Amino acid sequence: MRFFRVPKLLRWNYRNAMWQGRESEVYLTFDDGPHPLVTPWVLKLLEKHEVVATFFCIGKNVDLNPELFQRIRQAGHAVGNHTMFHERGRHSSAAHYMESVIEAKKHIPSSLFRPPYGSLTFRQYRKLKNLGFKVVFWSWISYDFDQNCSKNEILKQAKRIKGGDILVFHDSEKAEIRLKEVLEDIIVELKRKDLKFSIMA
Ligand SMILES: [Zn+2]
Repeated sequence: MRFFRVPKLLRWNYRNAMWQGRESEVYLTFDDGPHPLVTPWVLKLLEKHEVVATFFCIGKNVDLNPELFQRIRQAGHAVGNHTMFHERGRHSSAAHYMESVIEAKKHIPSSLFRPPYGSLTFRQYRKLKNLGFKVVFWSWISYDFDQNCSKNEILKQAKRIKGGDILVFHDSEKAEIRLKEVLEDIIVELKRKDLKFSIMA
């Protein structure tokens, strides 16, 4: 059973974090890049449809692809911190986790933060808030990374996307196949619903 929409109960612990945006808007987010092959493809598609997105980048990947990172920013998209090495919060000490976030911040000038796997302890959450980070979760996840989830299933679930939703995709190797199959159809469908594409402030 895959939950494309995050159950309300799960949001409770981090209810002051960002799970949803403004009603008339929809928020595309891409995690885990920049990736030398997938990110340029995403940028081109976003440009074609004249929409903006937020890229939650892994510090290590920004370090490896600095020009690509600049291209994302120059195109008017927002960027956010997704740790240095994609650590899982619940498997890391708060001290190590924060070191990773601070290291990533040297590469990613942003106060937006998304925890890899949505995994975060309350202690880490508090430390992030104290450092001035805005923690951004999501309300709808695409499962583009899951080869066992078919294109048709993703597109079917995407019909339920509504205003205010924060959507997660991945500009990563793992997600490349599904992402390329579904992203354009989803953008077109959301435009048809007259939703405005926004970035996190
Ligand atoms: Zn991630």
